[in-house]
Amino acid sequence: MACDTDGNIQKSTCLGAMTEVDVVVVGGGPVGLFLGCLLVQRGISCRVIEKRTEPTAHSRSIGIHPPALERLADVGVADELIDRSVVVPEGVAFANSKEIGRLTFESCPPPFRFILAIPQSFTEEVLSKQLSVSDDSALISGAEVRDLNEDDNGVTTETNAGEFQSRFVVGCDGQDSFVRESLSIGFPGGEYDDVFVMGDFTDQTSLGKRAGIYLTDGGVVESFPLPEGIRRWVVKTDEFLSDPQPFQLSKLVLERTGEIIPTETCSMISAFSTSHHLAEKMALGRVLLAGDAAHVVSPIGGQGMNLGWLDAWDAAHVIQDALAAPNRREQLILKYASRRRRAAIRANKRADFNMWMGRSSGSQKLKYACVKTVLNTPLKNYFASRFTMRGL
Ligand SMILES: Cc1cc2nc3c(=O)[nH]c(=O)nc-3n(C[C@H](O)[C@H](O)[C@H](O)COP(=O)(O)OP(=O)(O)OC[C@H]3O[C@@H](n4cnc5c(N)ncnc54)[C@H](O)[C@@H]3O)c2cc1C
Repeated sequence: MACDTDGNIQKSTCLGAMTEVDVVVVGGGPVGLFLGCLLVQRGISCRVIEKRTEPTAHSRSIGIHPPALERLADVGVADELIDRSVVVPEGVAFANSKEIGRLTFESCPPPFRFILAIPQSFTEEVLSKQLSVSDDSALISGAEVRDLNEDDNGVTTETNAGEFQSRFVVGCDGQDSFVRESLSIGFPGGEYDDVFVMGDFTDQTSLGKRAGIYLTDGGVVESFPLPEGIRRWVVKTDEFLSDPQPFQLSKLVLERTGEIIPTETCSMISAFSTSHHLAEKMALGRVLLAGDAAHVVSPIGGQGMNLGWLDAWDAAHVIQDALAAPNRREQLILKYASRRRRAAIRANKRADFNMWMGRSSGSQKLKYACVKTVLNTPLKNYFASRFTMRGL
């Protein structure tokens, strides 16, 4: 599609024209795509501007928690996500190789009493398809946002594929957000010392659809089932492996847990370091931030993408209300910023706890005993609720 009868661009091919919409979403990662679906389905016109021309091929974020799935259901993608995922009913905790308890998600409120495990590439594909079914001109790929200018009437967004005029802009453009930087919003935070290697392999464990959390004397090992008989392994390492090899991961897993990983079946391996950041403000004027553009949470616990979806849900409601009542705009946006910052602070505290649990310390035996006790009392329901991101 090129230009419509008024000369407005419908795709990035029509250079130099101006498109007017209610909302410009910068970034078509998981958060921007979901926000686009929410807006379009509420009759709010939007463009999701994504600089990549190809969909992501990486399996990076795999965990979808119930509170996010409840919101995803609202745009009609929950069934397909469930069909394409492994439905994880519980996690099994080990002290080294010995099982010490189980954390079942049955105590979660209905209807989603489980966590989904699905590669990020599948998730983005489902969201992107849903967005184009709702409005096939909403996603503009291969367009990079290069400037933002706000005046009394709205925001002008300049891209290499033309200009966009909108009442609101939402920056969903990830950790190195151009939107956040162009507003000079600080992004304080820090690095954890903890580094990890993760890889996907054919699953030969007896865990089936369950996740495995191995608290070990050498550091945590986590494993999650993925579709097509794959299992994701995440292993804490003593130092950052700049060129990780499958045999290094499988050796660590064997030493710490006794599980044998078929090294030759590796379909993905990478190392990652961990950090935490929180934007000083989550909105300024008519521009809101959501997802990693606003906060980075350690991947241990799998909260980042889910937290971003909860931001998107809130942002869509705030924008809908502000469009209906322009005189309440400033107040609504301020409240959004403060609610979502508080949620990110809570998520970061939970991530700190997850990181602490994964470290090996002098008091490992005490840690194992405490976890065993908790998982064998009703207290486990409290941990299931925190682990599944309730209250964020
Ligand atoms: C190893 C690892 C495992 C993880 N596992 C999980 C997990 O299991 N569960 C979970 O919830 N989270 C997980 N996370 C975190 C998760 O990956 C992120 O929180 C999530 O990807 C953030 O989504 P986003 O849409 O905000 O940003 P991104 O995924 O970074 O997407 C931003 C998009 O904006 C585009 N963009 C950037 N700048 C511009 C511009 N100027 N113009 C146009 N487009 C632009 C980019 O191309 C990109 O597509 C994990 C992270 C890591 C590193």
